[in-house]
Amino acid sequence: MEKDELILAIDQGTTSSRAIVFNKKSKIVSTSQMEFGLICPKSGWVEQNIYEIWATVFETVKEVLTNEKVDPTLIKAIGITNQRETTVLWDKTTGEPVYNAIVWQSRQSQDICEDWINKGYSKLIQDKTGLLINPYFSASKVKWIFDNVPGVLEKALKGEILFGTIDTYLVWKLTKGAKHVTDYSNASRTMMFNINTLRWDEELLDLYGIPKCILPQVVNSNENLGVATRLKEINNNLDIPICSIIGDQQASLFGQCCFNKGDVKSTYGTGCFMLMNTTNSIVKSKNGLLTTIAWGVNGEVEYALEGSVFVAGSAIQWLRDGMRLFEKSKDCEKYSRVVDGSDGVYVVPAFVGLGTPYWDNDARGAVFGLTRATKKEHFVNATVESIAYQAKDVMEVMKEEACTGIKSIGVDGGASANNYLMQFQADILNCKILRPTCLETTALGAAYLAGLTSGVYSSKEELVKYHTIEQIFVANMSEEKRSKLYTGWKKAVEATRIFKI
Ligand code: ADP
Repeated sequence: MEKDELILAIDQGTTSSRAIVFNKKSKIVSTSQMEFGLICPKSGWVEQNIYEIWATVFETVKEVLTNEKVDPTLIKAIGITNQRETTVLWDKTTGEPVYNAIVWQSRQSQDICEDWINKGYSKLIQDKTGLLINPYFSASKVKWIFDNVPGVLEKALKGEILFGTIDTYLVWKLTKGAKHVTDYSNASRTMMFNINTLRWDEELLDLYGIPKCILPQVVNSNENLGVATRLKEINNNLDIPICSIIGDQQASLFGQCCFNKGDVKSTYGTGCFMLMNTTNSIVKSKNGLLTTIAWGVNGEVEYALEGSVFVAGSAIQWLRDGMRLFEKSKDCEKYSRVVDGSDGVYVVPAFVGLGTPYWDNDARGAVFGLTRATKKEHFVNATVESIAYQAKDVMEVMKEEACTGIKSIGVDGGASANNYLMQFQADILNCKILRPTCLETTALGAAYLAGLTSGVYSSKEELVKYHTIEQIFVANMSEEKRSKLYTGWKKAVEATRIFKI
């Protein structure tokens, strides 16, 4: 059994909930994960049952707390990280949700967003929130519920309804309704929060028709929110305080110890999310990056630039399930050992359009450069390389807009296990790729923040000591080759975007 101080991280994601107990040296002591279903009532709509989310969180927490390796009395704090933007409204008295949680991916509020764009709100909204009008963010989801679920707006106006992203809901449940809060990082994804004044923006709320009384109090990402009394149902002696809340991408930035201006992390999961810490500067993007709050720590808010690639690891799933080229995602690596590179083949996996910097919803996937000599291995390698090219597209914009070079990038997520991808990423970006020992950086970020709040750690500098790197990938490609390959990619994207049916 671990004798050291422990921290419990709750990582509430889009398809599963996870609870992880870390020791002080950021080693995993116990972990539990449960998947849950998505509800897709119509094409493009993605919803979740909030009871199921809560049940999976509670069960995974129970499992790790009752694990024989864990002495629950050594757990000093709970950190919560969550899928961002996903929206839930519930009755303040009964706790009943008024509708399913509407997931970040859902497009059901597209018409509302188009209406706001047509009314000319885009610049105002970007100036105040750092975001581009899109169904992705919470505001239009709230409005959709008001427009589509009878009686909710009336009850909201009477102060009987609460809004939350998933962090807010979990804290409310864990504290038995004592706290209705969110942190700066999550608030900055709602399209209702002014990232300049650090307050809910009354002018925007008026434009949207959303009453302020439903919104949670915004707190630091490292804040002691009191004991999670609900956990006494597991063990009556448990008096563990909730000591951090942070959105998942920002949590991974923190977990990678990207504390300095210009530090970048890239998460290679289903999609690819890149964040650059811009510390106290609010960098407004002209090229499709989002400006967001990284975290608020001890009352000081820091900012980040964010870019999203919609299809990354899911392109490998497509090779696996759609093209049926192999059985497991990790099998794609063996193709890179059979042939060298992609021999001029480019795959542009624009299956659901293209994200940063193109924001082209209508683009669809394409393959270029086939010859009689093309082998299936080239095609697989080209698909893997497409992930790295898309990340480079985002990095190029980040470098330009933040006026800084990028010397190294911290990586995580399922596809970061792929050595060919990581080496190609280093080569094409001409920078170092740092793969940490602990790839659960999202949960770790929440744990680090909770540890700072509860005194397990004394400073961010101390955390850097525990952040160990498993492998460094160093660029090993001539500038000539890099430039030729990337020029080919840009042409492939351009050609892809021309083809619209
Ligand atoms: P998410 O959190 O978005 O569900 P994960 O971080 O769990 O994603 O990563 C899963 C993704 O990583 C899948 O899309 C899978 O295809 C991809 N993946 C896993 N292993 C590899 C690998 N060795 N090479 C390339 N892609 C991989």
